[in-house]
Amino acid sequence: MRYRKALAASLAVTATLAVQLVTATANAAPVTTLHYSSTGAPDYVTQIDQAAANWNAAVTDVRLVKGGTATIVFAETDDGRGSYTNTDGHGHGRIYLDKQQVAEGFAVTRIAAHELGHNLGLPDHYSGPCSELMSGHGPGTSCTNAVPDAAEAAKVQQDWADGFAAGDVRQAE
Ligand SMILES: [Zn+2]
Repeated sequence: MRYRKALAASLAVTATLAVQLVTATANAAPVTTLHYSSTGAPDYVTQIDQAAANWNAAVTDVRLVKGGTATIVFAETDDGRGSYTNTDGHGHGRIYLDKQQVAEGFAVTRIAAHELGHNLGLPDHYSGPCSELMSGHGPGTSCTNAVPDAAEAAKVQQDWADGFAAGDVRQAE
């Protein structure tokens, strides 16, 4: 009898905890984790990690994590055609960092952060100032900013608030 009573009390506590957990989950925006790989760009691992860290410091709805099953894969090119990414704008893509563009003086961390911006759904805005990541090469080699501005961060935060599934209509470009 005592055991049953204790069990009933324990179940009641468990039920209360469960309700609290569900409430906490409902109040917090879901976080999407995107894995990236830098093994294909061995010359720029440090800069790629910094670029990802810059995004992680700016937004909370989506996290860039190195390793695992990567859906964002970095590679190096050396053809002078510029860095670029092929991406669905929803966290899946290949990013190519052009060694000749780096040799011209463009900051690698800024390039990596810019291309990650495309993978997070942002379009180019070459006419923008250096304070914008998505102005890319527009402001020239003197621009080394690798941090999204407030509007860019807000856009990504908003887009990923519900997971930004690939089936959504929103497009990078
Ligand atoms: Zn771009």
